[in-house]
Amino acid sequence: MIVSPKIRGFICTTAHPDGCAAHVQEQIDYVKSKPKLENGPKNVLVIGASTGYGLASRIVPAFASGANTLGLFFEKPGSEKRTGSAGWYNSAAFEKAATAEGLFAKSLNGDAFSHEMKAQAVDIIKNEMGGKIDLVVYSLASPRRTDPDTGEVYKSVLKTTGGDYTNKTLNTDKGEVEEVTIGAATPEEIEHTIKVMGGEDWELWMNALSDAGVLADGVKTVAYSYIGPELTWPIYTDGTIGQAKKDLEKSCAKLNEKLSSLSGEAYVSVNKALVTQASSAIPVVPLYISILYKEMKEKGLHEGCIEQIERLFADRLYSGDAKLDEAGRIRIDDWEMRDDIQSAVAEKWKTVSNENFSEIADFQGYQDEFLKLFGFGLEGVNYEADTDPATGVPSIA
Ligand code: NAD
Repeated sequence: MIVSPKIRGFICTTAHPDGCAAHVQEQIDYVKSKPKLENGPKNVLVIGASTGYGLASRIVPAFASGANTLGLFFEKPGSEKRTGSAGWYNSAAFEKAATAEGLFAKSLNGDAFSHEMKAQAVDIIKNEMGGKIDLVVYSLASPRRTDPDTGEVYKSVLKTTGGDYTNKTLNTDKGEVEEVTIGAATPEEIEHTIKVMGGEDWELWMNALSDAGVLADGVKTVAYSYIGPELTWPIYTDGTIGQAKKDLEKSCAKLNEKLSSLSGEAYVSVNKALVTQASSAIPVVPLYISILYKEMKEKGLHEGCIEQIERLFADRLYSGDAKLDEAGRIRIDDWEMRDDIQSAVAEKWKTVSNENFSEIADFQGYQDEFLKLFGFGLEGVNYEADTDPATGVPSIA
């Protein structure tokens, strides 16, 4: 099949198997170009392992530390007639590359919020990974969650927790700057967003792993958050998603208490704003990212998911000093939040319009990276050639 991008709003409904493989290989090559991790993890579970920050969090321990990895995700396999999702092809490519280097790599495709997935992960750790894991990365971004006990379905919303909020946004389809008004969430919507994107499921995972006795002494666990500048606070940090991230921090404190008997550590890492499938759905943020990219590229500070996560592991999680902020969080968004970067972005934000957008923002960079998420625009890939959409993840029958 010849596969080309089909973009609908902020998603692309096709993905290119060879392009996704090339994207994964680029990330592996980057990790291999960096020093090996001293005292890095050896047996890793990544929840949300197929795209964005979670995929990078699987690639770094595997290729910098020789770790065995179990990756869990919710992706669509391809068939002879239809392409699968990008995360499916990414995981296929990751497993092939890891096993070619003699590393154990197994994947589970299913709902991370369910009891079944937790039980299956425990079985694999017990029977195929030597019985213990020393790192758990929690990197889910999901629009909904089914409560595993009650069957109730919760949906997350991207709304403010105050009144209506109007600001500039980017219509990524048309490449135009527009105004958007985001409405306020009801108390129920706030509660539901916390249920989906807060820390409850992270705690359920760690409890299930602890009860099964599969956490190694000195185990670490990390979940990801975002803060960003004031101009995005009404929709992010002070919005519904921000309430869920505050809940994640509460869970982190509880997990630190729980893991102390194993000399274990739980962290929330605040990461940089980046183009991923999850972030492209948030109003205002893609315009901010386009301006941010331009500024950070000009100053030689730009990073993608793999650069962020390599730095997180090498400089924070496995450096002996995680350099926590006053609230106990890892700040790998430190370069994004530098005063010189933020004041320049804030100045540009005031004046950005359709007329000057292409000069003061890096929309090309945004679009290129968006397409890359789905395996398009990678060097060395022949997009005119037939590719096999039924490419499978080796460990999933
Ligand atoms: P993403 O959309 O690229 O990845 C989400 C992952 O979750 C995928 O592997 C997907 O398969 C998996 N997933 C979703 N629902 C699932 C389910 N029910 N069961 C199993 N797997 C499921 O997202 P991302 O941007 O990498 O986000 C990951 C985390 O990083 C989120 O907590 C997000 O808030 C945080 N974060 C993102 C940014 C950013 O700018 N993208 C910045 C800071 C923090």
